Amino acid sequence: MTGLFGGSFNPPHLGHLVVAEACGQAAGLDRVVWMPAATSPHKQADPAATPAATRLAMVDAAIAGNDRFESSRLEVDRAGVSYTVDTVRQLAERGEPLALLVGGDSLAGFPTWREPQAIAELARLVVYRRPGDHVRLSDLPRWLAAAVTVVDGPPLDVSSTGVRARVAAGQTVRYLVPDGVREIIRRKGLYGRHIGPESA
Ligand code: ATP
Repeated sequence: MTGLFGGSFNPPHLGHLVVAEACGQAAGLDRVVWMPAATSPHKQADPAATPAATRLAMVDAAIAGNDRFESSRLEVDRAGVSYTVDTVRQLAERGEPLALLVGGDSLAGFPTWREPQAIAELARLVVYRRPGDHVRLSDLPRWLAAAVTVVDGPPLDVSSTGVRARVAAGQTVRYLVPDGVREIIRRKGLYGRHIGPESA
């Protein structure tokens, strides 16, 4: 089974890696495809938006060395707003069973996504809890709860927003993002202030 892991990945961080690894193992996935959105439906007016090519490069740097991880340019090349249902349909056409990896915070808003029931029919939803996500399977519509597998793992209070804020404040993000990602952040001067060798 193939796992689809979509996101902005601006930048990819420790949380993403743990989610992909733990969900991959728990759901018995052969591979996890990391899919940076061209433009996320939830972040269309994001002033902190980073070019898709740069986010893709950071994803490639983050997943280097893990044979089960790969990146895809499908949404980046499709351009415009990236709707998961379109991507799931495209991947499902290949006939391979599909799992969609999501954090608990994303699951809460899932019923408001475009054609959520179509997504749930085409893919198993593999969910990794996130601090403060308030997910209770009993609160979800039955069609959604039936499609969800919750994966066990330590809650990780790490976010791209938090990483960007630390970089902007000149605080280290070493170990919060892989070294290769940190290098791209530094080289391209992403997210604001960079002071001295210990920042970013
Ligand atoms: P931002 O802070 O910019 O909103 P983010 O850290 O939520 O970004 P995304 O790229 O938007 O990162 O997330 C992609 C997917 O990874 C989403 O399904 C999200 O819920 C999940 N995710 C990200 N960080 C974590 C985490 N620490 N724990 C569980 N799930 C996570």
